[in-house]
Amino acid sequence: MKIICIGRNYAKHIEELANERPEHPVVFLKPDSAILPKKNPFFIPPFSDDVHYEVEILVKINKVGKHIDTKFAHKYYDEIGLGIDFTARDVQQKCKEKGLPWEKAKAFDGSAVVGEFYAKEQFDLENLKFQLFKNDELVQDGNTNAMLWKIDELIAYVSQYFTLKKGDLIFTGTPAGVGKVSENNVLKGLIEGREAFQVKVK
Ligand code: ZN
Repeated sequence: MKIICIGRNYAKHIEELANERPEHPVVFLKPDSAILPKKNPFFIPPFSDDVHYEVEILVKINKVGKHIDTKFAHKYYDEIGLGIDFTARDVQQKCKEKGLPWEKAKAFDGSAVVGEFYAKEQFDLENLKFQLFKNDELVQDGNTNAMLWKIDELIAYVSQYFTLKKGDLIFTGTPAGVGKVSENNVLKGLIEGREAFQVKVK
């Protein structure tokens, strides 16, 4: 399976990192080795002094598709979830300055937290609340209504480039409030008030 990630999908997050608002979705990949095994702590990697959490809505693809039209995209997923796109911001900054790819900053082992999945029918996907707490302090308070590109538009866009397969995950981008993690932080993700994951940082 593969993980397809979207960057810069929330205007306020673009502002907080002083990035340019993109003309098209920003896309990058994580390998399956990036997934943090369930119940494992997240270990801050030795090559970074500035790892950030980014809470994101996840979409789990349920069948093969390519060149999917936006109006049929809803047929390609039954479940949505919540996760973290851990980012070595210092490494990413160097990559950006040199115009290099982001993988070392974004796709390292343990950089993808994948929480629980839920049947999409129980949610209004265009008005879905999700939150990240760090040591019980609310640090990210997101709603899919602020996405620049909606889930179905993202599926249509990425499937022009990558054949989607059953089990693939799409990380749909993070809202504002990203920040640094430190040892002994506990990160808890909620989707419409339900706990989708809890991760300890070491
Ligand atoms: Zn992200």
